[in-house]
Amino acid sequence: MSGPGDIQEFFHHGERVAVLTTQPLDRLLDYRAPEGGCFLGAYVEVPLGPRKVLGVVWGPGAGDFDSAKLRAVNRVLDVAPMREEMRQFLGRAADYTLTPMPAMLRLATRAPGLSDPPSMRKILRRGDRDPDRMTEARTRVLETIDQYGGLAFTPGELAEMAGVTSSVVKGLVKQGALREEDTPRDTPFPVLDPDLPGKELTPDQASAAGELAEAVQSGRYGTTLLKGVTGSGKTEVYLEAVAACLRQGRQALVLLPEIALTAEFLTRVEARFGARPAEWHSGATMTERRRVWKMVGQGGAQLVVGARSALFLPFRDLGLIIVDEEHDTSYKQEDGVLYSARDMAVLRAAMCSAQVVLASATPSLESWANAEAGKYKRVDLKARFGAAVLPEMRAIDMRDEALQPQTWISPTLRQAMADRMQKGEQSLLFLNRRGYAPVTLCRACGQQVACDHCDARMVEHRFLKRLMCHQCGETKPLPEVCPSCGVEGKMAAVGPGIERLGEEATALFPDARIAVLSSDLFGSARALKQRIEEIAAGEADIILGTQLVAKGHNFPLLTLVGVIDADLGLQGSDLRAAERTFQLMRQVAGRAGRAEKPGEALLQSFQPEHPVIRAILSGDEEGFWKAEAAERQAAGVPPYGRMAGIILSGGDVAQVFDLGNALARNDAPLRQIGAQLFGPAPAPIARVRGRHRVRLLIKAAKGAPIQEAISRWLAPIRLKGDLRLSVDIDPQSFY
Ligand code: ADP
Ligand code: ZN
Repeated sequence: MSGPGDIQEFFHHGERVAVLTTQPLDRLLDYRAPEGGCFLGAYVEVPLGPRKVLGVVWGPGAGDFDSAKLRAVNRVLDVAPMREEMRQFLGRAADYTLTPMPAMLRLATRAPGLSDPPSMRKILRRGDRDPDRMTEARTRVLETIDQYGGLAFTPGELAEMAGVTSSVVKGLVKQGALREEDTPRDTPFPVLDPDLPGKELTPDQASAAGELAEAVQSGRYGTTLLKGVTGSGKTEVYLEAVAACLRQGRQALVLLPEIALTAEFLTRVEARFGARPAEWHSGATMTERRRVWKMVGQGGAQLVVGARSALFLPFRDLGLIIVDEEHDTSYKQEDGVLYSARDMAVLRAAMCSAQVVLASATPSLESWANAEAGKYKRVDLKARFGAAVLPEMRAIDMRDEALQPQTWISPTLRQAMADRMQKGEQSLLFLNRRGYAPVTLCRACGQQVACDHCDARMVEHRFLKRLMCHQCGETKPLPEVCPSCGVEGKMAAVGPGIERLGEEATALFPDARIAVLSSDLFGSARALKQRIEEIAAGEADIILGTQLVAKGHNFPLLTLVGVIDADLGLQGSDLRAAERTFQLMRQVAGRAGRAEKPGEALLQSFQPEHPVIRAILSGDEEGFWKAEAAERQAAGVPPYGRMAGIILSGGDVAQVFDLGNALARNDAPLRQIGAQLFGPAPAPIARVRGRHRVRLLIKAAKGAPIQEAISRWLAPIRLKGDLRLSVDIDPQSFY
């Protein structure tokens, strides 16, 4: 059962073993090995008080616990034991992120039903008879099964996917329209064939693919930054590295930032390797997740395509990790265990002699700097594939445009859109603001409607006919009467959100087919995926999108991108504001002209002379990175210095500040490593879900042992009442 080259220690029946459980305890627990014994690393079920909990045999027992009271492991689960390398990886990741080990183990066991015994399960297939009469619910069920016919659904999953009650599904079974089938759980994934012919690569692509493949063949650790403009064929190139890895008989992992990306992607993988890979993301059914988890451990899955947490799957022999769109902020998990999947990918690869490929058109400054410093290799793809050329980029100086109040599409942009309409080409308007309007205020008293639980304004969502808080998700109806002054009929929407922009576009182009793409307008990731495919096929003239559209979708008919507010990201004090704006604008612009037709990107800006806007327009990327790097270096901030954030929260603001002040007074462990402490200060969003939030920020030199110092600093802290403390190493956002 264990992986190649792994000789696992074995504990005989009755021997004392130490078990790491998923329960929030700060130590390992001792048990007796069960009948039949168990390997080091075995996944086990152990009794804890009246409960049974999941754990992993972590080593020999310590022996200081009264052996008369020692309980036995209930049973060993029918899954491959956790490998030495995985245990070390979890330990190192825990040390780096200052996360307790039980939380790391929870992250590594996020598959339901791991402790279920292996068995058969009932799945449903299409039967040969038609139901006696069709209802809307029945139609939905049959459509779902026809559409995803290749997937195995349990009755419960099918009902959930189709949005019907289980009695509808049962009725269809009784009538013979669906038939039940017994299948074994958790079968291996279809074998992928790396030797199927790939696309013929251009010389540039072939040499990049060759470099990556050679690195994979070395069987050693290494990281390569694969930089190439959108459409240059990065995906084609790294799929060749995947092929090289599969040929060696090792497993590969492709991390993607967003579920919505995978539809097109999986089809491409299937075309290259002849079968679909294993998928790991929150949209997969419970049954599929469990199958992936188990098969990855047994070697029954050669390639996993997944979201960031796929990094914690129990790979048997991982040889390659691709981090696609490596600059994407969604790689940083912002709640629970605060980790960066990009950085953890590098850590994991180093521990299992694997290669990492970080792919991006607009790398993070971190990765750019690592490549500059020679820590990463760098491979560039310079040209777009085929006839596609990078769009021409220009600013629209909004100070010169005559705009009606409460409108945001400038005459210049409007003209460009009209041209596209005439030619039968698509335009995309980009605005990174969900909802109808960011602010709702009373024209009588001037008060804005705020969330009752957070320090945030309520955002109008006209589609939902409600106001919504983007911090906590709380919604309320649009008030007729001002909640502050009681005057009726004076509430007004201020500023544009994507829905409102849709209204403006409709008024300007009444005959156009207009599609608004914002994550909250779709009931499910599947519905969104489908809409994106329709749009790619030409079923829209004007597309309006939030951040969502920046991420790798391919719209061949799109030739114009209009950025409604290019200045939006430049405001605010975030140290990465310039970097983020640069990346986002270039990504969005990269959506245009991906096929034969050349594209154009127009950026509406009130400050076209701003250095960041100028760098975006000129396309001098290296110039931008060098300037940005110099500024960060001078300020001693990442990636040239280290940072950690401490967030304190609680219901009582005074208590939260007392804790913050106490921490600030006792900062000797930080000063010993030359680190500076800032705060306590109210966090930029000072209240979320009724809890007050206070931040402290630690800044240290690049090599400083910041985790060790923070551990010593926080060791004496006992949190009273509802106070919470979380540590964010290498914080990405500062909200
Ligand atoms: P990137 O990942 O850099 O955005 P892709 O790999 O998605 O680029 O390539 C962009 C488009 O060009 C895709 O439709 C891809 O199939 C196509 N393409 C890239 N390289 C080749 C090639 N060598 N032969 C055929 N099609 C290619
Ligand atoms: Zn709220």
